[in-house]
Amino acid sequence: MERRLQEAGVICQPEVSLQYQTLAKRSVLRGVESGGATKEIGRYVTFCDEGGEPIPWLQPIDSVAVNGRHAVVIAPALVSVEVFRVRNTYEVLIVRHNVVQPAEGRRARIEPRVLFRGRQGYLPLDLTGDEKSMAGQIVPEFFSKAGEHIGIPAEFGKVLRAAVRGATCAGCTHQHYLTAPKVNNNNKAGTSDGPIPISAGEHAVAV
Ligand SMILES: [Zn+2]
Repeated sequence: MERRLQEAGVICQPEVSLQYQTLAKRSVLRGVESGGATKEIGRYVTFCDEGGEPIPWLQPIDSVAVNGRHAVVIAPALVSVEVFRVRNTYEVLIVRHNVVQPAEGRRARIEPRVLFRGRQGYLPLDLTGDEKSMAGQIVPEFFSKAGEHIGIPAEFGKVLRAAVRGATCAGCTHQHYLTAPKVNNNNKAGTSDGPIPISAGEHAVAV
């Protein structure tokens, strides 16, 4: 499968790495929202917080290549949501990653915990083509080997829909779930919301 993805030119980095912030003196996690699709095959990973909500990126990645790396996220804890698709069959893996900081002098480590794993979920729609408008609204259904329905944790429904959309996004050029950092409101003070400026004529004597 890795080889087929490589041939299709889809680069997806579901791994989370441990990084050390020298100034803040703390260990953090780094993830890269990445992936995309061709008509046949797709793989996509994005990240969210433990409640499934979007988190801001550190920086977006502009690239001429499609189906690659879209944005970098840094956080003390992350949930990765990964989708792998062959035509209409999907695999899903949702993992929570925490930093475990042992006693002083010992190295921190990542503690991953699988929150959901879905195998061979089927979604009989062509989300890369005719039914593209449905992408981002639906997810595949998963069953146990005994044929019982396995529910996806409700809080991760929204992020999973975004990741499914990524795994069906042919020639993906942008992130699907990480968000732009919120603009600090202080930056706006004195411009749009500030006092109405005095006109140049009335103000002419000011030094
Ligand atoms: Zn896309």
